[in-house]
Amino acid sequence: MNTPLIRADLANLEPYDPDMREVRIMLSANENSYGMPQSVWQEALSRLAAVEINRYPLATAPRLRGLLAQKWNVEPANIVVSNGGDELLFNIELAYGGPGRALVNCTPTFSSYALYAELTLTKVIEAPRHSNFDVNEDALLKAAQDPEVSLIVVTSPNNPTGNLANPAFVEKLAQSTGALVLVDEAYGEFAPSGSSCVPLVSRYDNVCVLRTLSKAYALAGARLGYIIAPKPVADVLLAVRQPYSVSSLDQTVAEVVLEHASELDKITTRLVENRAALLEDLLQLAQDTRAAYGATALEPFPSEANFIMLRIQENVAGMTATDVHEILANKYSILVRNFSRTLGLGGCLRFTVGTQEQNGQLICALREIFGCK
Ligand code: PMP
Repeated sequence: MNTPLIRADLANLEPYDPDMREVRIMLSANENSYGMPQSVWQEALSRLAAVEINRYPLATAPRLRGLLAQKWNVEPANIVVSNGGDELLFNIELAYGGPGRALVNCTPTFSSYALYAELTLTKVIEAPRHSNFDVNEDALLKAAQDPEVSLIVVTSPNNPTGNLANPAFVEKLAQSTGALVLVDEAYGEFAPSGSSCVPLVSRYDNVCVLRTLSKAYALAGARLGYIIAPKPVADVLLAVRQPYSVSSLDQTVAEVVLEHASELDKITTRLVENRAALLEDLLQLAQDTRAAYGATALEPFPSEANFIMLRIQENVAGMTATDVHEILANKYSILVRNFSRTLGLGGCLRFTVGTQEQNGQLICALREIFGCK
């Protein structure tokens, strides 16, 4: 038998590894640590019972798009929904990238952008972030001038570092280029009001904003992303998508959640409070380890999302980030995300903000690991 031939440039591609394990405390995937409020879930379950599962879903999800349009004060024609934000990212790169064209990526950032660039034969031009992971605005403006550039991705807050991009800068960027500027606000609900770039969508033909219900809206399992885009861009994304990518089950659950948005927003407020407390505890631990080891062993990075990144100076406490990651998982059954092998993120772990109880357990474990009880 002949083995069918894969495209040569994809032959060594590895499947995405989310590094999921069965653990007691899951702080690895930036999910909503409180979960869906029971009353909202019960309502969703009763609505799901009425779904005609033998029928195809409504391809354009009119009710869901209507709710999202209302939320953002735009027209339904400005919204496209997708099977998670990931599907939209792929479709955007398919339509606005492609052979002979380039995407500007502000590294280190979410890995999917570069992966989909590979799949869609889009060249990647990097505009590396500053050492504190803020966008290097001059480098980005310069990279955007390359004639091949057709797409620029700005993640705000950035994953995994938590930094916001300044909307005034994004506006300047949009004015400076004919390329499509995609602002990925998957974690936008955790950021201060006034930091979103959605208001730019109605003013610039080349700005669109991606959001998701996976994070603040606790629907990572349902897979529901969406974009707010000028109508011509939305029309393109409607044309290239797989028509039935958002199931009727997902549409129904998402509608219920949006109708109960205020209940989820209360949880977001709690997570933002928990984030502040977690950062404070990490800073205290960093100070205590500095006293214990006589040098900086830990460096937490402030974040505007539902996660915090911590850098471990591997030569100070005699432990690598991978050691700490494994001890947390194996001894304490706490799973966090290890970024220490990502370029620019040596020594870095990312902690999803948990409930108060979960964060307390994480801090206790770290205190034990670093001998600062
Ligand atoms: N953008 C960013 C920055 C993300 O971190 C993620 C999820 N990890 C996504 C988009 C996609 O999320 P989803 O597919 O769950 O909507």
